[in-house]
Amino acid sequence: MKRIAILGSTGSIGRSALDIVSAHRDRFRVTVLTAGSNVALLDKQVESFAPDVVAVADKKAAQELKRRIGKKRASLLTILSGQDGIADAAAYEDSDFVLSAIVGAAGLIPTLSAVRSGKTIGLANKEALVMAGRILISESKKYRSKIIPVDSEHSAIFQCIEGHRKAAIRSIILTASGGPFAERSPANMVDITPEEALKHPRWKMGKKITIDSATLMNKGFEVIEAHHLFGLPHQSIDVVIHPQSIVHSIVEFRDRSCIAQLSVPDMKGPIAYALTYPQRIDNVIDGLSLHEIGTLTFKKPKKISFPCLSYAYLALEAGGTMPSVLNAANEVAVNAFLKGIIRFTEIPVIIKKTMEEHTVRSDTELHAVIEADQWARKTAERVMKTL
Ligand code: NAD
Ligand code: MG
Repeated sequence: MKRIAILGSTGSIGRSALDIVSAHRDRFRVTVLTAGSNVALLDKQVESFAPDVVAVADKKAAQELKRRIGKKRASLLTILSGQDGIADAAAYEDSDFVLSAIVGAAGLIPTLSAVRSGKTIGLANKEALVMAGRILISESKKYRSKIIPVDSEHSAIFQCIEGHRKAAIRSIILTASGGPFAERSPANMVDITPEEALKHPRWKMGKKITIDSATLMNKGFEVIEAHHLFGLPHQSIDVVIHPQSIVHSIVEFRDRSCIAQLSVPDMKGPIAYALTYPQRIDNVIDGLSLHEIGTLTFKKPKKISFPCLSYAYLALEAGGTMPSVLNAANEVAVNAFLKGIIRFTEIPVIIKKTMEEHTVRSDTELHAVIEADQWARKTAERVMKTL
């Protein structure tokens, strides 16, 4: 019986993971659930999965959960609150596996806490790696914490390189659906509304990653994520647009032979693989009928329409605290776009101007990475007012 903690259990990834647990109660026991503020759903999840610990980021929401749970179950359950409560829940001693599925920078400290407790991590929270990949990878070695990628592209690469030596890899090619605006010219992007940007053609995901997919910032983050997970320089990581989202990524070996991983686009595939690695469970997702799909296409991303992808490569090249600045400026800009404060095309402008003002520092210390994050949030807010 694998004992699993789910950080971000009320989100898109968290809910898919709990669906897998529901179908395989003989394999998994849920020890920990955490959420930002959605206590109505968290309460139902507690009822159904009977964890030992729950943690809610919002302290008022945690009080509300206590009221809902009442006296009966409260004696069996520890309820923690605030960011410290989530970090403590991530380190809970009776978990073997921690699914890191909080969105954004808020996932960094809990993920680090799980790593330092030596857990096996299923990592969906790519922003943690973008901000502090160097620290997370070195701490995972120090504390013998295995990190298994959940992002579909990185899960694909992880599956393709299984059994190969790292020295045998020449490059990796990340596939991208291209999002809803892959065919738009820059001039026709100015009036894109949040509603349009939230309609992803292939994947059903949380709001933030859906906007990141529409700007291709998500793919930029995935380049940085791949750099840390697989130890490859940015020159060895390429991106190709593949609108059908069937080939999840490709590894090119030294002899120029390539191995790709294919399936229908469904995050339950990579989540289940991380949960059960190195085993596989039966029929987690639908089968692939290639004869029905018929055509798989690939093309280069349009750099002019999607500058965010280039900014991620620039941030990786600059190194140090620059990726943390990229991530924080993007979070500020995406929130503002979702609230209708800025235009879709202003997201990259805010990121670029914030990066231009940053003086890079070393990313070996956590406080430097977090200071850069906070500096970038303030700078991005100021830049936004000058647009
Ligand atoms: P989501 O918005 O649906 O869910 C986010 C979860 O994080 C929720 O449980 C929410 O309560 C919690 N949360 C939000 N703010 C918090 C805070 N300040 N403190 C603590 N908890 C907080 O997001 P999602 O789509 O499930 O994505 C989660 C992560 O997985 C992201 O990093 C995303 O990039 C990555 N990811 C998602 C998908 C996908 O298909 N959804 C695919 C690949 C990678
Ligand atoms: Mg992905």
